[in-house]
Amino acid sequence: MPFGTLDGVDLHALATHLPTPFYAYSSSAIRERVTVLQAALKDLDTRVCFAVKANPNIGVLHLMAGLGVGADIVSLGELRRALRARISPARIVFSGVGKSDEEIAAALSAGVWKFNLESADELALLQGVAHRQGVVARAAVRINPDVDARTHAKISTGKAENKFGVSIEEARDWFGDAAKYPNVHLDGLHAHIGSQILELAPFEQALQRMAAFWRELEQAGHQLDSIDVGGGLGVCYRPGEDAPIAATDYADAIRRAFDGFRGRIVLEPGRYLVAEAGVLVTRVLRVKRGQEREFLVLDAAMNDLQRPALYDAWHDIVPLHSEPRPLQPYDVVGPVCETGDTFARGRQLPRCEAGDLLLIAGAGAYGASMSSNYNSRPLLAEVLLDQGRYAIVRRRQSFEQMIATEQLPQAWHAA
Ligand SMILES: *Cc1c(COP(=O)(O)O)cnc(C)c1O
Repeated sequence: MPFGTLDGVDLHALATHLPTPFYAYSSSAIRERVTVLQAALKDLDTRVCFAVKANPNIGVLHLMAGLGVGADIVSLGELRRALRARISPARIVFSGVGKSDEEIAAALSAGVWKFNLESADELALLQGVAHRQGVVARAAVRINPDVDARTHAKISTGKAENKFGVSIEEARDWFGDAAKYPNVHLDGLHAHIGSQILELAPFEQALQRMAAFWRELEQAGHQLDSIDVGGGLGVCYRPGEDAPIAATDYADAIRRAFDGFRGRIVLEPGRYLVAEAGVLVTRVLRVKRGQEREFLVLDAAMNDLQRPALYDAWHDIVPLHSEPRPLQPYDVVGPVCETGDTFARGRQLPRCEAGDLLLIAGAGAYGASMSSNYNSRPLLAEVLLDQGRYAIVRRRQSFEQMIATEQLPQAWHAA
């Protein structure tokens, strides 16, 4: 593909139609990831449920729906997005450690396929809501397998000290007490040990612990309908450093662990499907010569892409110059009033000038979805690209939209 194009779209040309910064996602790249994963699993009865939080844009979700991908949701808002994007409720699993009464009721009414339950309290709540609605809810217990995913501490979720899931001992009691929950059909296991995992070993450990528990349950007479192995597959943010797990190796590990299982295997990939398909397109506002370093001040900032500030994450930064220029080190920063608003330090880049176009790579997951209005900066436009064409799937937020729910005090009430 020619330099400066993504999915056949010339980003320079696109940046004349749309003011920077904006997010652009390659449909072809997303399709390819889905295809690779589905091909690796093709002999298994599987369901791929995209973790909506990675990229909840309804245009992206609609693309997933067209590929037969379901949704892993963690809130009522994500449920409504998935339904709006025409993902069938029969392909939706509801995860999360803090589901409210209202959210459970809405998800049950919508007919979501399965609730991934994370505490005894949630099990009791689901029983109550399902009883009220006169239905039987399908549920899986989220196991905390107590494995170290060897990823960033803020995105590690499968250790005993983390807030997620319950111990196998507790899960055993849930199955033993099933009669106490007549409106909950507990027939699944679930685990999700963390995100951006680049080694197979932690996955294998978690899969083996789940498999041992599945065999034990089977022997005790509990037939399982589904085993949900969560998400977490890592991607390459830093070429030459990050070596992601091949989908085929991951699928083989699943096959080995659950040999003989007759139910359905569920996967909840988020980052893996979208991270590398997305870029943040931005311009250099100015080059500032500091006392010790040279700063590249971009029109994108930490509120648009939080990952560097939040996780010290590396993102490749690619100037879209048409001619070669000498390399030099830059601190690449945004306009937000915090030192944390830094995309890279001492990064070697071809020399840049005000107005130059750059892309920040690997921005398709946990980019737009984690963005905020900090510094009263409007949310960015998002564009879906597909083989030379583009479609705007989110318009840039206007000032009026940004403050639409705010008002001057209309009346003062005594509380
Ligand atoms: C966040 C999350 C995922 C997706 O994680 P990725 O690392 O993006 O694949 C899947 N399942 C659950 C329960 C999650 O919380």
